[in-house]
Amino acid sequence: MMHQYCVQTQHLHHAFSNGEKALSNINLHVPQGSIYGFLGPNGAGKTTTLKLVLGLLQIQQGSITIFQQSVQSQRRAILQQIGSLIESPSLYGHLSAVENLQVMQLLYQCKPQRIQDVLQLVGLPNTGKKKVHQFSLGMKQRLSIAIALLHQPKLLILDEPTNGLDPNGIIDMRELLKKLNHVLGVTIIISSHLLSEIEKLVTHVGVINKGQMLFEGTLEQLEQRQQQDASTSIYTNNQIDALRIIRDFNVDALIEKEHIIIPTVCNEKIANINRQLVSNGIEVFQIISVKNDLETIFINMINATV
Ligand code: ATP
Repeated sequence: MMHQYCVQTQHLHHAFSNGEKALSNINLHVPQGSIYGFLGPNGAGKTTTLKLVLGLLQIQQGSITIFQQSVQSQRRAILQQIGSLIESPSLYGHLSAVENLQVMQLLYQCKPQRIQDVLQLVGLPNTGKKKVHQFSLGMKQRLSIAIALLHQPKLLILDEPTNGLDPNGIIDMRELLKKLNHVLGVTIIISSHLLSEIEKLVTHVGVINKGQMLFEGTLEQLEQRQQQDASTSIYTNNQIDALRIIRDFNVDALIEKEHIIIPTVCNEKIANINRQLVSNGIEVFQIISVKNDLETIFINMINATV
């Protein structure tokens, strides 16, 4: 199947002037219409990648394609169709929400009516003359997104937009982004260092650590990995003998507190193991399948590269 990618990066490498290598061979594939979660711990290289995509940093090695066009040759036309929020929002604290939007509306040269449209879209209540420096962080984030939407972008790039928001603020942000994606068809790239924060939102996930991609795929593919990573826990009255018997089946086994943990094996094998344990006089109290949650898989992926 041919994929329509909204953003694609090819073999991106990046090093800072102090010699620090921030990215090595980053190949992103962000499908058109997706909500792409770009995940990684602090310092992983998320901001650097997004800045390269937005042309805020110069490409040193590799290339970037947005809307099937090369960023290097079509920069202006492409950037006009992107809205972004990178690092902390830059708003005029001494101006009201509408005044902030007016400044940007003049800059973007879009219709004044867009101001009310975007305020409604982001659900920012009428804040009247209230100055932005009196806004809560959640309100500032909404206003920043309103600004990013003024020129009706087809792609929205948000770098950790939920940073510093309380749980309700995070839920509100999630609902807003879903609406933008479902109703207006905006493709969204959202970075985060917490899978749990975005797993209810995203359709696709890219995991980065130490400047390298560890995983890219749909949320379902990440969940399949979750099943592969599942293990089985066996609880008996005699761990030492049970461990020996299980290992005779050529299965990796280790003792974890009162349980013996083995990788998930087929039903027939687990039945054989159980039979062997029982026929050796061992009492089997429990055999259960243990699945990692997505967050654990994400953390395991990250730790495997540490
Ligand atoms: P965070 O969640 O902390 O923002 P991140 O995933 O966005 O992390 P980046 O900001 O892209 O990570 O940083 C990637 C690496 O590049 C880090 O090791 C960082 O120290 C380094 N780095 C970033 N900007 C610069 C710079 N201007 N000069 C030197 N090194 C930099």
